This record gives sequence, structure tokens and C-alpha cells, in this order.
Amino acid sequence: QREIQLPHAGIVVLIGPSNSGKSTLLAELVEKDVIRATEVVSSDQFRMLVGDDEYVEWRQRPRSEADVLYADYQQVSAKAFEAMEAMLATRCRLNKLTWVDATHLYPEDRGRLIELARKSHVPVIAVVLDVPEHVLLERDDQRKHPRGRQRVKQQAQQFKRTLRAIRDEGFDASYVLKHPYPVTFVRTTNPL
Ligand code: ATP
Repeated sequence: QREIQLPHAGIVVLIGPSNSGKSTLLAELVEKDVIRATEVVSSDQFRMLVGDDEYVEWRQRPRSEADVLYADYQQVSAKAFEAMEAMLATRCRLNKLTWVDATHLYPEDRGRLIELARKSHVPVIAVVLDVPEHVLLERDDQRKHPRGRQRVKQQAQQFKRTLRAIRDEGFDASYVLKHPYPVTFVRTTNPL
């Protein structure tokens, strides 16, 4: 079983398309007491905190409603990211470890987190969930609110670009976990 040593502090950037199992992995790690629930932040969580729950699932709304919500959503989203980054920066300064749960498929999203860690003088690592496209699509079909084939395929394409790019982006370490990744995360500090 592969072991991944977590840094004592800093940022763990999860990278993977929808249905790659990011939230599932985090839930497992919390369940096994490897991490605490408070060590995870996500843009969804912050969208909810700054804008209440109506913006979290706007994509699942009928098109007419979604269009109306979209402008609000953009504004709430921008504020949610600001709030999340402020929280991350604070935690970095306190030498806390924080996982960021989002797809992180675009270089600018990853770059912001790398920059934030640099400014706070803490390590930043990438944990990449590499799941074959057909598995992503199968899982999407099983979901209560499927993301849709087209979106999953588009993300899978973008993920291929991501895989090529991350080596040179400035992560202190990056770990590509191939489906069905048997892996244990070990940390030097006790989370509890
Ligand atoms: P999103 O970015 O859309 O939130 P995600 O990467 O966080 O997606 P999850 O929410 O963890 O993905 O999982 C998506 C779906 O895939 C869920 O229905 C989940 O049960 C299933 N799934 C996740 N991991 C596995 C796994 N290892 N084996 C089988 N099914 C899985």
C-alpha cells in the first residue's frame, strides 16, 4: 500500500473531475480520523456560507430559473472564493493543514492556491484523482443529480491537460492516484 506523507501545515489541493471521488475520499479520511472535517474547505461550502443554500445547486434547477439565478450566482461565487481564500490564508498563518475540495482543472485556480501558500511560507501539495472517463460516466449515471455526459467528457479532456501541466506549476509535491487508488495518508501531527 502506497503511503503519502502529508505536510504538517499548508494546503492540499485536490484535483479531479466531477465523479472522481474527491468528496468520497475526504469523507473516508474524516471517518478514519486521518483528518478533521474542519480541515476541508470548498467553494460550495463558502457559497452556502456567504449566499445561503440557493446558489449551491443552481445547476440542478430548470433552465429558466437557472438563467435568472446565474447573475446572482456569479456574484456570490466571486465573494465565496474571496472568503475561502481569506480563511485559507488565516489557517496557513496559524500553521494549519487545509484540504481544498474542488475540481481545480484550470491552471489559474491552482496558481492562486500555490501563490497563497508561497506568501504564507507553507507547503502546497497536489493530490490528483485519475479515474478513467468511462468510470466517471458510469458514476454520473448513478448520481442523484447527474452532471451530464457532455460536461463529464469536457472535464475529462481538461483533466488530461491538467495532468501534463501540474509537474511544472510549483507544487512542493504532487501525487497522482490512479483508480482504484489503494493509498494511506500519514501525518506527522495528530489531527485530534
Ligand atoms: P464533484 O466534483 O462533482 O463533487 P467528486 O469528485 O467530489 O465530485 P464524489 O461526490 O466523491 O465525487 O463522488 C461522485 C459519485 O461517484 C458518487 O455517487 C460516489 O458514490 C461515486 N464514487 C466516488 N468514489 C467512488 C469509488 N471509489 N467507487 C465507486 N463509486 C465512487
